[in-house]
Formats: sequence, structure tokens, C-alpha cells
Amino acid sequence: MKIIMLGAPGAGKGTQAKKIAAKYQIPHISTGDIFRANIKNGTELGMKAKSYMDAGGLVPDEITIGMLLDRIHEADCQNGYVLDGFPRTIPQAESLTKALKEMGESIDYAVNVDVPDENIINRMSGRRACLGCGATYHIVYNAPAKEGVCDVCGQSLVLRDDDKPETVKKRLQVYHEQTQPLIDYYKKEGVLAEVDGTKDMEEVFQAIVDILGA
Ligand code: AMP
Repeated sequence: MKIIMLGAPGAGKGTQAKKIAAKYQIPHISTGDIFRANIKNGTELGMKAKSYMDAGGLVPDEITIGMLLDRIHEADCQNGYVLDGFPRTIPQAESLTKALKEMGESIDYAVNVDVPDENIINRMSGRRACLGCGATYHIVYNAPAKEGVCDVCGQSLVLRDDDKPETVKKRLQVYHEQTQPLIDYYKKEGVLAEVDGTKDMEEVFQAIVDILGA
């Protein structure tokens, strides 16, 4: 099963994507995670991506599309995958559709996790990420056992540069301009499914499972 998660930054699509990956035993592919891993490892790709990410903008399509297409051609993607944070622009979606078509394949579901902007700003300012393993928390909704410390690896938790309020506003603007049009794109492709992302995390997941099938 090939699934795309759509939704504003902070809508909870990453959390849902991880749960989908675990339930349906398919890889969770987050372009944001791939960029962050590259930044941490000091690669050339990471250096190119960092300035765009810190400013709340999108990494250019020339960099992002090739990276994602390489990833979905890897062996673990044979039975499908859940894409989290890709596509984010119409050219990215068109490149994906074309690449899949060449393999005789297509996306099964594009799940839009719908959350209004006000909720997003509130949620993201409380987000904390681990510097060590990348695990994410929320100071109210998903707090670590010990404040400021990762439950998984014990390293420090920080507010990511791209989760800072001024960056979040910019990211939302970028979302509305460049990513929201994908909702219509996938509606036309006949694969769009919508869920109410303001609900409790488990309720949102159940709504998604109802769509994808148990
Ligand atoms: P995320 O973890 O999905 O919120 O992504 C964090 C940041 O990585 C975004 O704000 C972008 O700067 C960059 N990024 C992730 N995915 C993409 C993409 N598909 N296209 C362009 N930039 C991306």
C-alpha cells in the first residue's frame, strides 16, 4: 500500500505516519527526517538543505525530488510505504506520479490530516525534539518522563529552529501557497481521504484505519 500524508506542518501527520508504518509493516519515509539526518552527519546535501529549513522555506525541488525517488526505489519499498512531508509542491507530486507510472504503479491513498492554523501555532510552540535520536515530544500532549530529557536515549530536548513561532508562521504561509493545492491534485486523482486532525491522536488513527482497511 502506497500512502501519502498531507496536512500543514504540525498537523500530526508524522505521528500518524509512524503508526501507519507500524500497523501495515511498511517503511515510514519522512523527507524532513532525511534532511535532518544529513545535517547531523554534515553531508553536502545537509548543508544545502539547512539554510532553507531554518528559514521556514522549502528545500528546492531539484534537491528533494531526486532524493525521494532514490529512496522509494530501495528494496524495503517493494510492498509500499507511507510518505510524510513529500510531496509538498505540485512539481514534486507530478514527478512522483510520473515515476510511479513508469513502474506501472500509483498512490493508493492521500490522507489529508486537517487542522486549522490557530491549533497549529499552539501545538508547534510546545514541540520538543531530541538532539540525539530525533524523537519528538510535546510539553503538554506528549511530555517526556523527565522535563527536557529524551525518554529513548537520555539526550537533551530542544525547540527545533523550524518550530520557533516566527518560523512556524512562515511555514504555514508556505504550506498554504505551495502544499495546500495538493489536496485538489489528489482529489482529481481520486485517492484523497480526509480526516479531522483536531481529534485525539488515537481517534485520528482509528479514522485512518477505517479508510485504509484493517
Ligand atoms: P518536516 O519535518 O516534514 O516538517 O520538514 C522540515 C523541513 O524540511 C521543512 O520545513 C522543509 O524546509 C524541509 N522539507 C521537508 N520535506 C520537504 C519537501 N518535500 N520539499 C521541500 N522541503 C522539504
